[in-house]
Amino acid sequence: MTADRRESDRATIKRRMMDLVDELYPLPRSITGEGVRKTLRVLQRFIPLEVHEVATGTQVLDWTVPREWTIRDAYIKDATGHRIVDFNSSNLHVVGYSVPVHATMSLAELRPHLHSLPDRPSWIPYRTSYYHETWGFCLSHDQLLALDEGPFEVRIDSDLRDGHLTYGELVLPGETRDEILVSTHICHPSLANDNLSGIAVATFLAAELQHAPRRHTVRFLFAPGTIGSLTWLSLHEHDLRVRHGLVLAGVGDGGNLTYKRSRRGDADVDRAVQIALRDSGVAHTVQDFSPWGYDERQFNSPGFNLSVGSLMRTVHGTYPEYHTSADDLGFVRPDRLQESLETCRAVVGILEADRRYLNLSPKGEPALGRRGLYSPIGGSEAPVDRLAMLWVLNLSDGSHSLIDVAERSGLAFPAISDAARSLEKAGLLEARPG
Ligand code: ZN
Repeated sequence: MTADRRESDRATIKRRMMDLVDELYPLPRSITGEGVRKTLRVLQRFIPLEVHEVATGTQVLDWTVPREWTIRDAYIKDATGHRIVDFNSSNLHVVGYSVPVHATMSLAELRPHLHSLPDRPSWIPYRTSYYHETWGFCLSHDQLLALDEGPFEVRIDSDLRDGHLTYGELVLPGETRDEILVSTHICHPSLANDNLSGIAVATFLAAELQHAPRRHTVRFLFAPGTIGSLTWLSLHEHDLRVRHGLVLAGVGDGGNLTYKRSRRGDADVDRAVQIALRDSGVAHTVQDFSPWGYDERQFNSPGFNLSVGSLMRTVHGTYPEYHTSADDLGFVRPDRLQESLETCRAVVGILEADRRYLNLSPKGEPALGRRGLYSPIGGSEAPVDRLAMLWVLNLSDGSHSLIDVAERSGLAFPAISDAARSLEKAGLLEARPG
């Protein structure tokens, strides 16, 4: 592929990811309900997602699938009948999972149900109350200060009924049942970085991988935060094949990439992500695991202890736009989505290519020239290739993996894996099982 062609493909993918974020932005997602279903239906245009419905009341580990929330409309009207807070202008205006209300009340009565951000007076906060029955409105502090004493007509046209929790899943079978899991949350309404960026990157990664040959089975999970991953874990707890996993969240903002390691800390996925980031040369930060964040909390709980790390950009909760209306379409940058996608692609490539080899000519260096192995491989510089071959030959004693070689040599992973492929073809290496 020419450089021009690669650049134009990149521009197309960037634009298509951003178009997807735009299209999903207005949908009123929550941990259950039509917003989630509509979101998954949009994704089905890109990838053959299977949609699962789990009934209200189902026990999932220590939790219970909640009632399904439907929101149709919500407003606060002033005495003249004018909607001064209107769900139709932003779905953030209603506290998620609000019970229905229709009443006329004074400002004093309404005030305990209003949420604003005094230090960011033009932004609307995002609030939910999934497991405590209440209702409320979120509005800008400017709007709050402009309210008179009332009376106000207050209406939330919602209901909470027995229904389902909905999640989407795509399993791409590989040569082995060992899995790479890519998981992202789908439960936030009009917030762009916090959930739509992860959805877009996971969707385009899945769209690419579905047409590629695979060693691992790759599983994509699009599930509501916390309760969705708990539900999935509960349904699969006796048949878990996850060997490597990544939670994607907040991967579109202008900040640098951040990788949070799995609880194990030295799992192959932890090492693969760090090699991918090192090789890419992009500025990034690596953090140790902490039991705070997104669904990596569930996957890394001690009863599962799966090797699942988390890829993000600026850490959730540390940027002012987090969980506010300022996490909007302008906050997500197409080039950052692209960089996040490329990182995921590189990580999957490393995990797919990683294996242990045995050097079949381990006594002294084998004569590479005689076997035609001094010519450039894969278009990269010959001296690097030769050094990569020497590293692979030296460490291939059956116990070191290509990840070990990439770490110890400091050479880029593709140079290492290309070298291994050439050496295997020349009969100098044999792949070990597993
Ligand atoms: Zn969030």
